[in-house]
Amino acid sequence: MGGENVKITILQRLLQMIAPDLCYFCGKIGASFCEYCKYDITYDSLSVCFRCNAPSPVGVCAKHDTYITQVIMIGSYEDGLKKALEGLKFCNDRFVSEPLAELLAIRAPFFPTDAVVTPIPTLRASIRRRGYDQAFLLARAFARRRGLEMRRLVERSGSFVQHDTESRLQRERQVRGSFTIKANTSIPETVILIDDIITTGATVNEVAKVLRQVGVVRVYVMAIAHPI
Ligand SMILES: [Zn+2]
Ligand SMILES: [Zn+2]
Repeated sequence: MGGENVKITILQRLLQMIAPDLCYFCGKIGASFCEYCKYDITYDSLSVCFRCNAPSPVGVCAKHDTYITQVIMIGSYEDGLKKALEGLKFCNDRFVSEPLAELLAIRAPFFPTDAVVTPIPTLRASIRRRGYDQAFLLARAFARRRGLEMRRLVERSGSFVQHDTESRLQRERQVRGSFTIKANTSIPETVILIDDIITTGATVNEVAKVLRQVGVVRVYVMAIAHPI
């Protein structure tokens, strides 16, 4: 893992010499998110419920039947965050996972030191198409910045096809039973689930349910963006 990180850093440096990073928000040369924009997005991040978009300081209102302790989302799916996520998901820009994970690390609340960071399992077909697992990259980079353990706790089970146009109800039905806990893994008390975008929230809620069923006490969800 360490060797791979060193390789990534060298490759990043080379790429920066050829094509320097531009701020995804203001276009300034130097970093994917310049100091000003980084401050703005993390200081004034999204405080809405992940299910109904009502204002909520903990990202979820009490009226929902949810398994999640707190949802932290950096911003709405537009502007620079949309551009950065499109780069990560569709344009083969795996390195943007690092500055995006930095946003998560800045915005994250205090977590117990024995909390385990885990990515939302990505569809196998998407990993094949992209050549990497973007949720895994985000989770690993975030965990490293916060000095927390990163471990895959959940995996997808069964065949599962995702359609973007589905309603929340359809999505909830579809994801039911789609996730299982990995065999032979110890169960931590606190889990931080990492995803790139939360749309209906059906997937993160289902994964949180599976984690709670095996004894996880607190499930935090952190994501880069949410459409509002
Ligand atoms: Zn900027
Ligand atoms: Zn709500």
